[in-house]
Amino acid sequence: MKTLTKEMQAAITPEMALNLLQEGNKRFINNLKINRNLLQQANETSDGQHPFAVVLSCIDSRTSVELIFDQGLGDVFSIRIAGNIINEDILGSMEFACKVAGSKFIVVLGHSKCGAIKGACDHVEMGNLTDLLSKIQPAVYDEKTETENRNSSNSEFVEKVAVINVKRTVNAIMQRSPILREMIELGEIGIIGANHDIATGEVVFYENTLIIN
Ligand SMILES: [Zn+2]
Repeated sequence: MKTLTKEMQAAITPEMALNLLQEGNKRFINNLKINRNLLQQANETSDGQHPFAVVLSCIDSRTSVELIFDQGLGDVFSIRIAGNIINEDILGSMEFACKVAGSKFIVVLGHSKCGAIKGACDHVEMGNLTDLLSKIQPAVYDEKTETENRNSSNSEFVEKVAVINVKRTVNAIMQRSPILREMIELGEIGIIGANHDIATGEVVFYENTLIIN
């Protein structure tokens, strides 16, 4: 796998970008990691980077984007924050990645057994975490199918809230970033939500992420 150049990045369509991530995850779950010379890649990217995708994921130590999508240096912009939520700084980072640096795809990646989602389900309040978890609360309230044990002891509830949180985040990116919205509507970039199963390593991409049912 070659280090991305500006020309290689320019030739990648949004569909191809998604495919690169899907193929990388397939390699990861089959333990067929590409043998990269990272030192050489560091040298090759030292004068500039041309990542093909930007991935917003959780800080969880088991969800490292470069590992689970088997990517090298210079391949992906990685934004990580507990609960894969957005704020203006994160939107600005995505706008830089796509509008300035040429990335072709945005992935909002949630994961199973997420501590931040569990914290929101339990309405945890602690220091600055309170404000962060308040950004996940709407997903907790949007989950209507579980009527009992609406807390972290109910693993099905937690997983359902995680899915809703990802879909809400994708929608919020469209609503709060006119720059990204226009690029998506013009087909210049793509956006999708996904979930990473931390037990199997598999990433499932949601179809029609923009439509919340
Ligand atoms: Zn998490």
